Amino acid sequence: MTYFRKNIEAMTGYTPGEQPQGDSGAVKLNTNENPYPPSPRVLEVLRRTDWSLLRKYPDPMANKVRDILARMHGVRRDNILCGNGSDELLGLAARAFCGERDSLAYPVPTYSLYPVLAWIQGAEPVEIERAPDFSLPGNLLDRAKGARMLIICSPNAPTGTWTPPEVLESLADQFKGVLAIDEAYVNFARGDAMRLAERYNVLVFRTLSKSYSLAGLRFGYVVGPEALILGLRKVKDSYNVDAISIELAAAALEDQAWMQANVEKIRSERARLSEGLARLGFAALPSEANFVLAAVPDGDAGRWHEALKARRILVRYWNRPR
Ligand SMILES: *Cc1c(COP(=O)(O)O)cnc(C)c1O
Repeated sequence: MTYFRKNIEAMTGYTPGEQPQGDSGAVKLNTNENPYPPSPRVLEVLRRTDWSLLRKYPDPMANKVRDILARMHGVRRDNILCGNGSDELLGLAARAFCGERDSLAYPVPTYSLYPVLAWIQGAEPVEIERAPDFSLPGNLLDRAKGARMLIICSPNAPTGTWTPPEVLESLADQFKGVLAIDEAYVNFARGDAMRLAERYNVLVFRTLSKSYSLAGLRFGYVVGPEALILGLRKVKDSYNVDAISIELAAAALEDQAWMQANVEKIRSERARLSEGLARLGFAALPSEANFVLAAVPDGDAGRWHEALKARRILVRYWNRPR
């Protein structure tokens, strides 16, 4: 006898990467955070924020941020919904589009949150193997047929693989459900698919956690056609983004130069790390994100993981095929 719904009883929750508390000396590469600080304007705004702001509920739609984003992406305010991290928005999409026994499809390997979102709904995760080079497989549309939502993570976690917008556009044309494009890492890549967000059954998810160095703030947004955004709005908490986040997200977004400069540094470090790993015999995949996926030379990744941890270098470890 259990109090839980069958699917909740049967599922395992998402396992986040280790977040050591108070170990400021660690080289932390395991959760794809940004190693550089956020824009100083964020701190400035935090310092001069009037604390009486906290007495009242925040703007339920975070319109201040929506207006900045609308200008930035050349869309209208009604095409945007802000959230408590893009994880929240992905969850809203699963709740809005996927019911019991519906399918939620996505190519794998990918972000391990997606199956969790399906399980919570009592929906069926449909996992479609990526091609040997981790690009999208030829049978993708065939396998995703009938799914309510297809999630493509681009650049993909944890492979770093980027999917060209033309490929996504042709998917959007042919797929009958909602195409969710998770662009958490897109600022590190050579291009993005934002232009698809207004025209089709497409939702583009972005976050301030990675390129804007604000993982602790919890701010993400989704861009899409007004009808889809209106539907997601029905599902969300009334005040899903807090008053301080609204102010700080606005400040971060208005300092594009700071974000871009950090992105440039990370791209150059990414190349240096990949070259170094290759020299040591690791098979590092080309990455369009702020992380690198590498196979260890001797096949014993668990040992490397522990040995690096002993040196206070945290990496994510997967003991899975491919
Ligand atoms: C980090 C990440 C997110 C979202 O992060 P939030 O901190 O919730 O905004 C979404 N998708 C992928 C693939 C990620 O790596």
